[in-house]
Amino acid sequence: MRTDIFHLVYFDYDRSCYFHFYNCNFRCLGCLRKISLWDCHLKEDEIKKCKFKGFLNLKELENVVQKLKIEFNLRKAVLGGGEPTTDKNLLKVISLLKNFDLEITLLTNGFSFPQGFEKFEDVKVTISIKSIDPQKHIFYTGYPVFPILENIKNLAKNGFEVLVETIYIPGFNEVEGILRIEDFIFSIDEKIPLIVDSFLPVPGTLWPKPSLEELEKLESELVRRNIKNVYLRGKTIRSGVKGEVRLIFPQ
Ligand code: SF4
Repeated sequence: MRTDIFHLVYFDYDRSCYFHFYNCNFRCLGCLRKISLWDCHLKEDEIKKCKFKGFLNLKELENVVQKLKIEFNLRKAVLGGGEPTTDKNLLKVISLLKNFDLEITLLTNGFSFPQGFEKFEDVKVTISIKSIDPQKHIFYTGYPVFPILENIKNLAKNGFEVLVETIYIPGFNEVEGILRIEDFIFSIDEKIPLIVDSFLPVPGTLWPKPSLEELEKLESELVRRNIKNVYLRGKTIRSGVKGEVRLIFPQ
């Protein structure tokens, strides 16, 4: 049975493997895949060598995970891409990974979840909101934001560990927009973390990367409002990933 997984990368700093799914239902203007389909944490010469070799089926996936478990004592599985929820075999992939006793994180745009996902409440779900403004969200992704907000509410209500991400996009999703996302989170559960990434310019967009001053302005506003659940990843992560990053598939 075929999955949509076409690329695997192992990170030794936290013994995790990132499973890249190919398809996505959204058409985000700032999608990093416009720069490259391959994991941006790999070294440039390795990225150059990557050639698409098709999709893993469930048996092949099981063999790779077993190998990672034996060789590296794999601890975590991160499902992203692309959009894992567009894979009609996502639940089978999750069940397979659970059999290896892995901690599973699903990175998703949160637009729709397959029926039956609710029984996997030990899966951590990270949902990205590109803008909470309905018009802006459609403009940026091609899809409405409302179903995403409803899904976040339902997942939190059903006991899932949820984390929300957004992107600081100068001139599009700035302090006011990010504080509105924060208000939405507060209306559900103030303990849900909000991670703010920095926009990275991709071909076809005019927005720049946020400056340090812009991020500091957001930070002071959070301090002024005594908001403690927001993490400015775009400000703190300025250097690369710790430890070794290995290309697992395709090779
Ligand atoms: S949801 Fe993610 S993968 Fe899909 S288009 Fe948007 S940024 Fe790209």
